[in-house]
Amino acid sequence: MFDLSGQVALITGASRGIGEAAARSFAKYGAKVVLAARSSGDIERIAAEIRDNGGAAAAVTCDVSSYEDVTKAVQFCVDTFGGIDILVNNAGVIEPISRIDSSDPEEWSKVIDINVKGVYYGIRAVVPLMLEKGAGTIVNISSGAAVGALEGWSHYCSSKAAALSLTRCADKEFGDMGLRIVGLSPGTVATQMQVDIKASGINPVSQLDPSVHIPAEWVGEAICWLCTDAGDAYRGVDCSLRDEDVRKAVGLV
Ligand code: NAP
Repeated sequence: MFDLSGQVALITGASRGIGEAAARSFAKYGAKVVLAARSSGDIERIAAEIRDNGGAAAAVTCDVSSYEDVTKAVQFCVDTFGGIDILVNNAGVIEPISRIDSSDPEEWSKVIDINVKGVYYGIRAVVPLMLEKGAGTIVNISSGAAVGALEGWSHYCSSKAAALSLTRCADKEFGDMGLRIVGLSPGTVATQMQVDIKASGINPVSQLDPSVHIPAEWVGEAICWLCTDAGDAYRGVDCSLRDEDVRKAVGLV
């Protein structure tokens, strides 16, 4: 069990998959949760389920590729729960999967808008509030793709490399001012994203048997764990959930 009672956590991409699981884990550990995504109905439903189970949760519609939306989501945390202690930059996309020579420049750019600018916008919007308090944790959801190359994933690999760079840069700027900025590379996770990857058939990840993917709930637990003192060891770097020692420390095995 991790004690996150009273902490206010904003989770982007909380309408399904890893973000939804993280929201449920945060609520279980006593945090007040704000779920953000474009699918309003889904985040409203999940927030209501969390409240029905005795947790504190609210939903805010947010497209992370819009800085205006992100600042509004952060303000919503302040108005609803009195502040923000934790930001999980989880929203991300991989479609359309395509080799560079047949990729659509506009679609390629949209992935960068979400996976890179969305992470920067989140950091930009919460850091002033966290600096005022002298405390706060930002978890950027990364991927093995941040440091690896895969056919058909040039947009995704580039975007995750940039997100890791944002983790490093933000830690350099704010790590000695009470802020903890960490990355989490979850390995392959049983979510819609892996369904889309499988359907693409383009590289070795698409050939994986779905049974090898870890459940999204494990990643939700690991994100909460990174928001405790345990996260200090991963300031400015990606923590890998493929690491057996990390899984043990989180309490997953
Ligand atoms: P998923 O099931 O496809 O969920 C993606 C989430 O991101 C959804 O909630 C979606 O909500 C949200 N999203 C997409 N575009 C958005 C936007 N513009 N603004 C706000 N929210 C947006 O995928 P997942 O596997 O949970 O992925 C979550 C994160 O984990 C991503 O950053 C992904 O790159 C990373 N990751 C996943 C795996 C894996 O194997 N699944 C591995 C490594 C890293 P709406 O569509 O409602 O907006």
